Amino acid sequence: PVVFSARGIHKSYGSTEILKGVDLELRRGEHVAIVGPSGSGKSTFIRCLNLLERPDQGSIALLGEPVFDAEHPGRGMKQRDLRKRVGMVFQSFNLFTTHTALQNVSLAQRRALGRSRVEADERSRDLLTRVGLGGHLGSLPSQLSGGQQQRVAIARALALDPQIMLFDEPTSAIDPEMRNEVLSVMRDLAEKGMTMVVVTHELQFAERAADRMLFLADGEVLESGSPREVLHSP
Ligand code: ADP
Ligand code: ADP
Repeated sequence: PVVFSARGIHKSYGSTEILKGVDLELRRGEHVAIVGPSGSGKSTFIRCLNLLERPDQGSIALLGEPVFDAEHPGRGMKQRDLRKRVGMVFQSFNLFTTHTALQNVSLAQRRALGRSRVEADERSRDLLTRVGLGGHLGSLPSQLSGGQQQRVAIARALALDPQIMLFDEPTSAIDPEMRNEVLSVMRDLAEKGMTMVVVTHELQFAERAADRMLFLADGEVLESGSPREVLHSP
């Protein structure tokens, strides 16, 4: 079954058309990697998928429910509601710097889902342990490496029990030697059947973990297919 679909997504900044009609359909448990040159619109596209950017044209649906429809603005979903269902991991982690790892993961659940502190903390401990940070619950972001901070951010997103996860260049701001610990958490999620969209420059990761790859150039999908087809096409 189709979990998520985006059709004909257009987006301009001023008079510059950044996205020229991009389509994406995700089946349950599918992992799609979006690759392409810098400036091609990858980040703009993934931000449109959870309405961090508002598309100018096109429509988006999650499990058949309208998320966004440029032709029927009243039919959309509130960004607030969407955020619980579509988890997002950013290049720059976006953690609260004055909060510990545990507090960062708990706060999101208490705010978005209204979970009690006890409930949220318990879930946070489980998730942080699962991403290898059981020994760092009380650490502030500044006491953690980039790879560790990004794993906190992944735990925070997972804590809301999202139906799909979006990753926007999750390892680009991390030292190369720390990237693997993040990629391995992502591979693990993929193996467990999470539906995922990943914008990345890590072609090796994309080739191994993705079922399908979109090659975006100048705001259009130039290639779409298995990683092998896309990476080795002439
Ligand atoms: P990619 O992720 O593929 O590197 P982006 O989606 O970040 O590409 O950017 C595509 C283009 O859109 C770039 O030329 C960028 O400068 C421009 N852009 C991105 N965000 C904005 C914005 N908020 N205002 C104006 N231009 C933007
Ligand atoms: P608010 O103060 O509106 O409750 P939050 O503190 O929950 O916002 O989030 C702060 C920022 O983190 C948001 O502006 C947004 O950019 C980002 N963010 C957090 N979670 C998500 C998500 N699941 N999808 C999109 N953006 C998110």
